[in-house]
Amino acid sequence: MELNEVLRLVRKNIINLAPYSTARDEYKGKLGVFLDANENPFENRYNRYPDPRQLELKGIISAIKGVPVENMFLGNGSDEAIDLCFRVFCTPGKDNAVAIAPSYGMYRVAADINDVEVREVQLGEDFSLPVDSLLASCDENTKLMFICSPNNPSGNSFPMEQMLALADAFNGVLVVDEAYIDFANQPSLLTVLPKYKNLIVLQTLSKAYGLAGLRLGLAFADAEIMSIFAKVKYPYNINLAGMERAKELLARDVNAEIELLKSERERVAAALEQMQCVEKVFPSDANFLLVKVSDARGLYDALIEEQVIVRDRSRIKGCEGTLRITIGKPEENDRMLAIVDKWK
Ligand SMILES: *Cc1c(COP(=O)(O)O)cnc(C)c1O
Repeated sequence: MELNEVLRLVRKNIINLAPYSTARDEYKGKLGVFLDANENPFENRYNRYPDPRQLELKGIISAIKGVPVENMFLGNGSDEAIDLCFRVFCTPGKDNAVAIAPSYGMYRVAADINDVEVREVQLGEDFSLPVDSLLASCDENTKLMFICSPNNPSGNSFPMEQMLALADAFNGVLVVDEAYIDFANQPSLLTVLPKYKNLIVLQTLSKAYGLAGLRLGLAFADAEIMSIFAKVKYPYNINLAGMERAKELLARDVNAEIELLKSERERVAAALEQMQCVEKVFPSDANFLLVKVSDARGLYDALIEEQVIVRDRSRIKGCEGTLRITIGKPEENDRMLAIVDKWK
């Protein structure tokens, strides 16, 4: 799609929106006597409003991800970016979105809050991407399509060429949630972002970067789309304490942790496959395993009994009989494995 066509998908009221202008939008210098924002002047480190554009933190993330700052949005978790996709593109009660299922529950919740219909399309055999059914579910009011790759809870990635085929064929905005991309053995769609004007890539600092508690989600797209997100978001959506801690913690190298978690994933998968109650371990490109067992609820309870908490996914359509097990530290994984091994 051309950028102009994508911009035509944006709601009229959002195109016409005059954003709140903060005191710090008007004067950008750091030195001066600041009598413009009704702050308390006595220094305590947090007495001043934070940068609403988060330029310093974005600069650091830009260097890590290789994406220019103007192609980036920072949110209060990915959840804020997901909500903004609906608020920017979907007129409540009229437009709809298409999403894969089973997948991340937040797409539906955000859609429901915004009174937007979601058409869920079941993944195929072994969680394959149903490209034709996804496209067949669209009509002229379909503004968004959500794909999660690697997918939560199935763990698999979808082939890049299939996702790009969707981006080519879909007359709306394709949102690809890459929350787990750092654990994957295939590249991010960020590499093709400049070519696909109708693509929004979501990532997060909550998983591989180990900063779930700071609540920092990332969206990447064309600069014009990102500037629309910037005018719709709450002006100071990222707080100063969180930005400071993120700057500090992003200086450390998480590669060793990621590599260890990936090798633990393979070790745990192989061990689980040997166990009596395990029927199938689905291939994973993420930091968790979806495991089909003979009695999911029974095993879940047995694990809880020993204070090992996993996620029971057995009531989700397409995931019957499964538990989703996050990869922990080696000794934590061993403790989980020992319980599964001795159960039935
Ligand atoms: C964990 C997760 C996220 C991250 O959410 P945050 O709000 O950034 O913590 C996003 N998408 C999926 C599919 C996830 O599993």
